[in-house]
Order: sequence, then structure tokens, then C-alpha cells
Amino acid sequence: MNSSYWERTALELEWDAVIVGGGFVGCWAALHLKRKKPHWKIGVVERSAFGAGASTRNAGFACFGSPTELLDDLSQASEAHVWGRVERRWRGLSLWRSAFSEHDLRWEPLGGHELFRIHESDLAQQTQDALPGLNRSMKSITSQGEVFRAMDQLPGKQWHSGVKILGEAQLHPGKALFALQQACQSAGIHLLFGADVAPFDRWEHTTAGWLLPTSRGTVAAERVGMCTNGATSGLFPEWPVVPARGQVVLTHPLPSVPYRGTFHADAGYLYFRNVGDRLLLGGARNHFRAQEQTDDRNTTEEVTGFLEQYLRDVLLPGLPVSVDQTWAGTMAFGPNNEKDPLLAQHKPGLWSAVRLGGMGVALAPVLGEELAVGLMGE
Ligand SMILES: Cc1cc2nc3c(=O)[nH]c(=O)nc-3n(C[C@H](O)[C@H](O)[C@H](O)COP(=O)(O)OP(=O)(O)OC[C@H]3O[C@@H](n4cnc5c(N)ncnc54)[C@H](O)[C@@H]3O)c2cc1C
Repeated sequence: MNSSYWERTALELEWDAVIVGGGFVGCWAALHLKRKKPHWKIGVVERSAFGAGASTRNAGFACFGSPTELLDDLSQASEAHVWGRVERRWRGLSLWRSAFSEHDLRWEPLGGHELFRIHESDLAQQTQDALPGLNRSMKSITSQGEVFRAMDQLPGKQWHSGVKILGEAQLHPGKALFALQQACQSAGIHLLFGADVAPFDRWEHTTAGWLLPTSRGTVAAERVGMCTNGATSGLFPEWPVVPARGQVVLTHPLPSVPYRGTFHADAGYLYFRNVGDRLLLGGARNHFRAQEQTDDRNTTEEVTGFLEQYLRDVLLPGLPVSVDQTWAGTMAFGPNNEKDPLLAQHKPGLWSAVRLGGMGVALAPVLGEELAVGLMGE
């Protein structure tokens, strides 16, 4: 079917700035930009009908770092670098909270937890010993005297010990993205859904700016912010961004859920939380690293089977457990597993804010703001 003349010309696709990718980062970037430059015409181009990137496929942990993750980071990078990253995540969570209500986000301040199994007693002890130091560093960021506290009650005999993470929460990522997109629309930002932007080799750069072919017409903009995270390598193959699939299983409602809040286990490689009376479990990429380096969003039996087994054997032993839903989403890391985002100017008027790793909920508002500042400087 051909498009009519009216359909082709109904949309005005000439903007001062275009953000490609309508996930958390893209929408936050557009919102910050509009607040700072209210007279600019700003558009967000999103290939799906709502969002089908990591922002609507994640586990909804509003987290800033578990003790084992922070200790691992501190063994590889300077204190300033690690705590600077945590400070950005903490600030990002505050930005969510100040822009939206608890109801909008379905924010549940149930706290986070890191659990250790019996065979992890050495790691558990090292972590417990490090808590006073971690709390001292966190205090300068959060003004809270205590963020990490040894748990006095454990959710089962299979656990050796655990650490409660005060300040960690959970949200509904789909509702959060919906609220964010509504805020963009109310601010006068044009959201163009169902528009797939073509790879960079089909773009043109003219004296007026960039021309981006999309499946809904050509977008013209002086400035472009790429917020395509795990899909970036398909558009800019030479950028140092590697896709990484994450898979998740969700149980049917359970008669009782022994876990309320967000939980990190296996040194952060597994994460689980309650979703009402269900349990969501994801991760285990460390066991399937090569095959999970993909932007394919289909689940695999190997990974969902592994997760289901962990549910039965470790999380809910002796209980009848059945999985209701499974899904996968795409994260992005650096080629050497870098965790820091790729916030960079690549060409005149062309910026990226991609590569958020596994903790983009907290980072997105801050990275979006940094991208807006970059685009404004052009
Ligand atoms: C299974 C899983 C669990 C996770 N759990 C958590 C968690 O609990 N807590 C946490 O903090 N983080 C978690 N993450 C990571 C977090 O979801 C991401 O870091 C974050 O959502 C990235 O946001 P984004 O806006 O950069 O990317 P995305 O949400 O992926 O947005 C990119 C957007 O670009 C669009 N796009 C791509 N290509 C094109 C194109 N050619 N044209 C137009 N549009 C395009 C996509 O459709 C997508 O909507 C998880 C990720 C996964 C996959």
C-alpha cells in the first residue's frame, strides 16, 4: 500500500534536535533539553509503538550498587571513579523521585538485599568486614549514616548471611516509561513512534544539519542524540558498544513469597524480586557469556531453564513453582566489559549517550541531562 500525499506531509519532521531512541535515557534527555531550551523544537524517534528496549524489559531495581559489586569495582578502579559513579546513580534516583509520584512509578521502598549461600561463607565474611568502610563512603553521597546493614533475619535456611541495602527500591519500568513519555508530550516534545531510523551510512549531513531516513519519513535536525543503547551496533558498527542479552522468568502468583524487595545473589550475577505475589528472577549471563552477546530479544531454553532450576532448587525449595512468563532484553557494555556509558560527540552535532550496562534505571536521568548539555553546547 502506498502512503497518501497527506500522510506523507502530515508530520513536520524538522527539529532543532532529535533524540533517537525513546527509552529512559532518550526521554530524560529530551525532557532536560526542553527545560533548558524551551523554544527549541525537539523530537524523539522510537522504532517501536511504546518502547521495547531494555527500559521496558528490565527487572525494575532502583539500585545504586550492591556491596560485592562495589568491592569488585574498587578492586579495579580508583575510589574517586567508583564513588563518582555511585553518586550519579544516587542523584538519578532522586531525579526520578522528584519528577514523578510513587504511584506513577509504582515505587516500592522495600529495600535491597544481597544474599550469600552457605558455600560463599568467605565472600560473605569479606563483605561483612567491609561494611563499615562502605558505609563511610556512602555517607558523603547519601548523608545517611548507614546504607548497608547485616541482616538479622534470612528468608530461608539455604542462605548463610545477607546485607540489607537501605535506600534501594523497586519500580514498574513500563509505568515509569509511560509517565516519562507523558511528561515529554506535556512539555511539547514530539514523540514519533514506529519510526525505525536507518543505519548511519544512509544518513546525510548538509549545511542545515543531519537528514535521518526513517520508516516514517526523513527527519531533519541540526543536532542528533543517539540513545539506542543495545541496538547501537546495528546503526554505528564502529562505536565501542557491545549488545548483551538479559533474560528473565516470572512465576505465577505464589501462595506466599518469602522475598519482598529486591535481592542480589551469586555476587550480583543473579537478581530477583517480588512482583506482587509473583517472583521475578533474572541474570546468569556469566554462565552463557558468548551466546548472550547478542541483540536478539528471544529467550533461550538454556538460560530460562537454568533460572527455573535456580527458582526450584535455591529460592523456593519444596514449593510448587511454575513459570508464567519469560522475556529477554538488550543491555550494552563496552568491548572490554566497560561499565561507564559512552557519552561522546562523534561528529559535529552528533552525540551518543549509550552503553548503560546493567544499572540504567538510576543512571538514565543523569546521563540524559549530560547529553542535553552536550547538545546545547553545539
Ligand atoms: C533483563 C534486563 C534486566 C535489567 N534490570 C535492570 C534493573 O533491575 N535495574 C536497572 O537499573 N537496570 C536494569 N537493566 C538495564 C536497564 O534496563 C538499561 O540500562 C536501561 O533501560 C537503558 O535505557 P536506554 O534508554 O539507554 O535504552 P533502551 O531502553 O534500550 O532504549 C533504546 C530505545 O531505542 C530504540 N531504538 C533502537 N534502535 C532504533 C532505531 N534504529 N530507530 C529508532 N529507535 C530505535 C529502542 O526501541 C529502544 O526503545 C536491565 C536490563 C535488562 C535487559
